[in-house]
Amino acid sequence: MDSTIMDYNLNIRAIFWRVEKLYSNQEIISRTYEGIKRYTYRDFSLRVRKLASFLKQKGLAGERIATIAWNTHRHLELYFAVPLLNGILHTVNVRFHPTEMDYVIKEMGDKAIFKDKDIEYKNDSITSFILDEKYDEEVEVQEPFAEFPDVDEKQGAIACFTSGTTGKPKGVIYSHRSVFIHSLSLMAKDVLGISSSDTVMTIVPMFHISGWDTPFASLMTGARLVLPGPRPKAEDIVNMIKSFGVTIAIAAPTVWIDVVHYVEKEKGDLSPLKAVVTGGAEPPLGLIKKLSEYGVKTYHAWGMTETEAIATINKSDDINRLSEQGYPIPGIETALIDVDGKELPWDGRSVGELVVRGAFVTKRYFNSPSNILHNNTWLRTGDVVKIKEDGSIKVVDRLKDLIKSGGEWISSVDLENAIMSYEKVLEAAVVGVPDEKWGERPVAFVVKKPGVEVTEEEIINYLKSLNMFAKWQLPDKIIFIDSIPKTSTGKLDKKAMREMVKKFIEKKG
Ligand code: AMP
Repeated sequence: MDSTIMDYNLNIRAIFWRVEKLYSNQEIISRTYEGIKRYTYRDFSLRVRKLASFLKQKGLAGERIATIAWNTHRHLELYFAVPLLNGILHTVNVRFHPTEMDYVIKEMGDKAIFKDKDIEYKNDSITSFILDEKYDEEVEVQEPFAEFPDVDEKQGAIACFTSGTTGKPKGVIYSHRSVFIHSLSLMAKDVLGISSSDTVMTIVPMFHISGWDTPFASLMTGARLVLPGPRPKAEDIVNMIKSFGVTIAIAAPTVWIDVVHYVEKEKGDLSPLKAVVTGGAEPPLGLIKKLSEYGVKTYHAWGMTETEAIATINKSDDINRLSEQGYPIPGIETALIDVDGKELPWDGRSVGELVVRGAFVTKRYFNSPSNILHNNTWLRTGDVVKIKEDGSIKVVDRLKDLIKSGGEWISSVDLENAIMSYEKVLEAAVVGVPDEKWGERPVAFVVKKPGVEVTEEEIINYLKSLNMFAKWQLPDKIIFIDSIPKTSTGKLDKKAMREMVKKFIEKKG
């Protein structure tokens, strides 16, 4: 039987209604090349309407529009104006190689590019706008767009390509509905608990999975939003936390490692920050403990481009449990399967692949007709996990990164975390390299902390002292480097590291 409830599209217009009508004096603060821009939700909403008229005047209403931009108010205005006109905002990863940018822009069929001025990219076949003061003026003189269409909630709103360590990037398109529901879920107290009394700083790039939807969630609930602009360094981040009273900030673990390092060096602190949201990779326990010493809680999130960022969360008060990826947020279901696709129990011991389904999970890639779901139901995450009886997930490894030695598995993540818990180590990454006898053997890359000396033997002895690893699980070789190669989204670039080991071995002859 049909319900008696009215049809109401969960779309960007429904979010915009709140921004414009309810919180008009709340602030958006944005760091730009021209300095700090502060304006109210009221002024922001007016700008969105003027930008919509600008897009219409240029023949771009309802089109696919690429942005190659940092986290700024100008980018945020496009986040609203483009989908409000039933277009798709394609956030291009600024760290992509120009040939990759060419590829994704062509693949999406974008009609225009809005680009920050310092990003080197040229595409003569498409109209380009530079996000600068001249552009501001051109938008400012427009009449505000009067009435936005009530876009069907199933329509695409935002497009994002996964970086991937191999092959061409694959496109994912989030719908109006998925953005709405994900943002709503993020607001829940047991998820991020963003409220109108918070000042939120989205440091995770708005060019990758729409800043994990935290700009939308913040504006939906009337929080003050701080956008840290182009290439923010640890010093900028700490200054903004202090100057604008940031209470909750979202960034990958590497950013927080830098921030904590900076604060220690400067003998400063992190007040008034209450919590950091981190994910994309497992935050080292040492980092979580350091943040806690500064009075900052860690909310550990897990997710993928294909799950519209955050899909599980761990906000445990027990620091030792915070390396778990935690519980599925409302709108997500999880299960554990073995290599044959058979479901495994949630007993905290069984190891299998995590599969997920839900209101913001991808079923196919853009421009590809084939459904990628297992049994037409579950998205295979490629992450190897254990699930406790209470539903809390612990990532053990990624399928592609497990090291198989003599028919037995070695967890590169466990080794990395153990090496990183050594006081002289800043960062570590472990890769499996081909070995004639054993199939694969682990090799570790280590970045030592500045100003200390550390040897290979010292690290191996430390690992032995932890009593966590069998002898055959210890790395065969430790290579000291200045920085760990990362992919364009800041993940460990294991492919590049495997190449480095190959060259290293060749050189040794
Ligand atoms: P991406 O689509 O680039 O965001 O990458 C998603 C992948 O990053 C996941 O499948 C995981 O392998 C990894 N990942 C994301 N969050 C976490 C986390 N909290 N802990 C460990 N790995 C993570």
